[in-house]
Amino acid sequence: MNANDEPLLSIENVNVHFKSSKLMGLGGSETVHAVDDVSLSIPENDVVVLVGESGCGKTTLGKTAVALQRPTGGTVKYRGQNVWEAKRSADSLNPFANRSDEIPFKEIRRSLQIIHQDPGSSLNSNYTVESTLEDPLKRWQSDLSKEDRQARIHGMLDRVGMTPAEDYANRYPHQLSGGEQQRVALVRALLMNPDLILADESISALDVSLRVEMMDLMLELQDLFNTSYLFISHNLSNAKYIASKADGRIGIMYLGELVEIGPVDQIIEDPQHPYTQVLKWATPDLLSKNVEEPPLRSLDVPDPANPPSGCRFHNRCPEAREVCAKKHPEMRETGSERRAACFRAEDDHEYWDSEPLGEGSERDQATEADSVAD
Ligand code: SF4
Repeated sequence: MNANDEPLLSIENVNVHFKSSKLMGLGGSETVHAVDDVSLSIPENDVVVLVGESGCGKTTLGKTAVALQRPTGGTVKYRGQNVWEAKRSADSLNPFANRSDEIPFKEIRRSLQIIHQDPGSSLNSNYTVESTLEDPLKRWQSDLSKEDRQARIHGMLDRVGMTPAEDYANRYPHQLSGGEQQRVALVRALLMNPDLILADESISALDVSLRVEMMDLMLELQDLFNTSYLFISHNLSNAKYIASKADGRIGIMYLGELVEIGPVDQIIEDPQHPYTQVLKWATPDLLSKNVEEPPLRSLDVPDPANPPSGCRFHNRCPEAREVCAKKHPEMRETGSERRAACFRAEDDHEYWDSEPLGEGSERDQATEADSVAD
């Protein structure tokens, strides 16, 4: 396979584990499994929306994808180039450390951009919009004259509806609304001509009407700039909107693992993982009728430093059987472009002969006793 056949980004069996001090001053440390054994491939001009509840590892995975977080295991490749090997070459004092066929880390950095959840805190309050946008252009396109930089910045401000551009260019962040700040952050990312933009909950702080406007704008510009997006969202309804318009995919994360991924209509209309059904239940506008009880056996979210044995969802899953507490379901193909990590997706799995894992079963009581002892 030559470099041109490689996907834009490949995340292969990636783990991100953090050491964290135990609470209450009891000393020692524990390992938080923020991301565990996740594989994901993103081609050119693709859109993937990662969805999951708070603390499921979606932001950590997103930052790992754009080379802002070094994984503790597995590999991240940009166009076939191992990102962290390129970083090692860049940091090396040996002038011959860079192989001639290696993509320089600097180039990878430019190609993978991020828009943060809170643009207000990522824009420097002492800089005008023009200085904020001029800075990266000076760094990455040093051949542009001041007039060319200004023309490009004003053109982009016009393009995102910040007109008259000359007026907006001279404003400071506090003179902009939340939606305008978010547009500046988007322009800053696009001026780098990136291949992939990580949009980390970048619309969640906006009003509903502005949210739709911003999602539409981002997708319009995706076409124009031929950019891929990795969106992070806790809201399945927003994920559906974005992925439907872009003909993209939705990936569902639970407790550090990617548990289901596929085309938007399949994930929304026919979720295969019981946790995807929980997210759907929590998004009333995606349900045809109101269902009062959540499809969960327990509301307790397990500790990511001490994830449950077997399937990590088994203590909450209404479909759990004895085998789910003992064996870990791997992600497997369950259709064209679709993968899920649940034994129920396999017709001949021993799951179907296993006993249901009801509330108060011996195994549940043992698990609860363990967590109390911890
Ligand atoms: Fe539920 Fe078992 Fe599937 Fe896990 S493997 S999601 S516990 S049915």
